[in-house]
Amino acid sequence: MTDIDDLPVRDELRGKSPYGAPQLDVPVRLNTNENPYPLPEPLVERITERVREAARNLNRYPDRDAVELRTQLAKYLTDTSGHEVGLANVWAANGSNEVIQQLLQTFGGPGRTAIGFEPSYSMHGLISRGTGTGWISGPRNEDFTIDLAAAEKAIAENRPDVVFVTTPNNPTGTAVPAETVLALYEAAQAAKPSLVVVDEAYIEFSHGASLLPLIEGRPNLVVSRTMSKAFGAAGLRLGYLAAHPAVVDAVQLVRLPYHLSAITQATALAALEHTDTLLKYVEQLKAERDRLVAELLAAGYEVTASDANFVQFGRFDDSHTVWQKILDRGVLVRDNGVPGWLRVTAGTPEENDAFLDAVRELKKEQS
Ligand code: PMP
Repeated sequence: MTDIDDLPVRDELRGKSPYGAPQLDVPVRLNTNENPYPLPEPLVERITERVREAARNLNRYPDRDAVELRTQLAKYLTDTSGHEVGLANVWAANGSNEVIQQLLQTFGGPGRTAIGFEPSYSMHGLISRGTGTGWISGPRNEDFTIDLAAAEKAIAENRPDVVFVTTPNNPTGTAVPAETVLALYEAAQAAKPSLVVVDEAYIEFSHGASLLPLIEGRPNLVVSRTMSKAFGAAGLRLGYLAAHPAVVDAVQLVRLPYHLSAITQATALAALEHTDTLLKYVEQLKAERDRLVAELLAAGYEVTASDANFVQFGRFDDSHTVWQKILDRGVLVRDNGVPGWLRVTAGTPEENDAFLDAVRELKKEQS
């Protein structure tokens, strides 16, 4: 039987596994930090209209620069952060994963390195490898906050070309204060001018504000965002970044021509027309996240403070066995491979109740 390792694949891909959150068909799926609420019917109608219009022109390539979409994304960022950004500051791609890939193709690559503070979003390391960028795993404190002194030391020693800071962090939910990001930015610029990518995929769920205003006067700072979480549009595949216009010019050196299909642009524009409706679930999800934290603590679990739409809970001698036991009760959570911990996404109140019943039952079994 021929497998990957029999093919002439690149050395750094040998023996590696693809990213793969299990997509299992179970009643309650709380494993991929999706928004549990389907899109409201009036928005589905508007998407249909916009897509029908776009379909008439599918004989033509889409707007390569996605001007209308980037203008609307800039408006959303300006309205929600109070910091004015325009078309020239914003770039969009197929999910923030593609934004990150384009950044690494532009600022990383063979002979260059990227650093992240782990545990964090595993795709930062995987996309680094995929783009030939060396990956450096930086440290965190026991409580999953960033150990600033150790991080500054790691940056000074390794002189990375790209620095990832995820806030709120996935899978731990930990928010990173602006002062820490600023200190990391200074450390990264002192070591060698390098790009600092602040991954704000979950920022709408945070107790704190977006760090978007920090891009002012800092051309090597990029904030990356997505419509997959708070907007409840993971299936759309739309991510974007805000940065100095020079960064937006730079990523255009590597983006594939016409990378954002006319259908994607039309759908995202329809969704942005309904921003208020889409974001109305954010407050409810934040309240459910806080309820999960309180109830997990009450049930005798340890919990990591969360600013995201998910909660890391533990601690377990064998987290994978606990993951399986929760699954046996019809609830899929995530084992991110962080020893002793599992992660649950905030779902609907009913889904969260099913999860809480399952973990309370497990505690009873143990005692
Ligand atoms: N960044 C972080 C921290 C994430 O957790 C995720 C998705 N799980 C992404 C980026 C990618 O999201 P998308 O490609 O759907 O925009």
